Amino acid sequence: MRLRRRRTLAYVKSSKPTPIHPQSLSNELVDAYLSGSRLALARVITRVENDPSLFPALRKALDGRLGKGVRIGITGPPGVGKSTLTSAIALGLAGKGHKVGVIAVDPSSPFTGGAFMGDRVRMDALVGNPDIYVRSLASREGHGGLSPSTPYVAEVIEGYGMDRILIETVGVGQAELDVLRCADIVVLVLQPSTGDTIQTLKAGIIEAADLIVVNKADLPGIDSALQSLRFLFSLSGPRPDKPAPPVLATSAQQSSGIEKVIAEIEKQAGELISSGRHEAMRARRLVEEIRQSIQKELWTAFDSTIGADAAIAKEAAKLAKTGGSPYEFVRKACAKVRIEPVK
Ligand code: GDP
Repeated sequence: MRLRRRRTLAYVKSSKPTPIHPQSLSNELVDAYLSGSRLALARVITRVENDPSLFPALRKALDGRLGKGVRIGITGPPGVGKSTLTSAIALGLAGKGHKVGVIAVDPSSPFTGGAFMGDRVRMDALVGNPDIYVRSLASREGHGGLSPSTPYVAEVIEGYGMDRILIETVGVGQAELDVLRCADIVVLVLQPSTGDTIQTLKAGIIEAADLIVVNKADLPGIDSALQSLRFLFSLSGPRPDKPAPPVLATSAQQSSGIEKVIAEIEKQAGELISSGRHEAMRARRLVEEIRQSIQKELWTAFDSTIGADAAIAKEAAKLAKTGGSPYEFVRKACAKVRIEPVK
């Protein structure tokens, strides 16, 4: 009873991060996190979420702990049952012996916000499970995209020991595309009446989907939906690098069809790992991370040398008035900047 209460508390706490001083990623906290404390995990995530620049320091401690985890993006229009399905998949994977992290990026998801409290039955099933860790992240304000810290949070959760990480998105706008950059396997969730809404999906999502799940199979129209989606996706695939995605039916609410979805995810995960594609995808993500890191370092060096924002604004205002090319300014500014090698 006491244990359960503590877990619930840890979850509620983690869903509402309190502002913490960025310097507070102490050795004690990192040690507690590495030795398996959930409370420490929640705290480390909060700190990295608040200040992603803390991650590089933590990264060293994660050596040897990263690289095996499979990230499964779960995306699709709002209301199709992504959260319900995510819960069911998390439970199913945990039942098969996996350690499962769930990142829910959706302020209106039952994992977070007002609906969370009203949806305890579903959440209790996850929150009380020692093999599942659920974390909500605020979506990027105004853009509906993944929080910029999501890839780091995924690493923190993987470094804690989770080998399957489900990333559920808000299902509209930029988040759908962002999840592709984070995920090894993309699951697109639809429902029987999706015929019309499919046009509203971002084109990249349809091509990126590795698995289509038509949820709410208990509703009328499931057979024709499956038929037309199978036809549609057989046309849009196969891409040269991947086969057409299977189209499976579930009723997450009635826990039906989930086993097949999990079997397909595990089949794809196994193929990714054995073919070396999982490693290649990780390398691609690292390229992006290194590139972004260099851009950030360069900008910081630039800014600390010439006070870039103010200097650029001043130069732009001058050019707008007098005309002329900005590139002389760029050349001179670059000549002034010295890059200190990273220690
Ligand atoms: P999300 O917005 O895509 O995350 O969708 P939710 O998981 O919040 O579900 C939206 C609504 O659909 C909720 O009222 C769920 O109870 C309901 N729902 C989820 N799965 C099913 C299902 O398999 N069948 C039916 N009929 N309703 C479902």
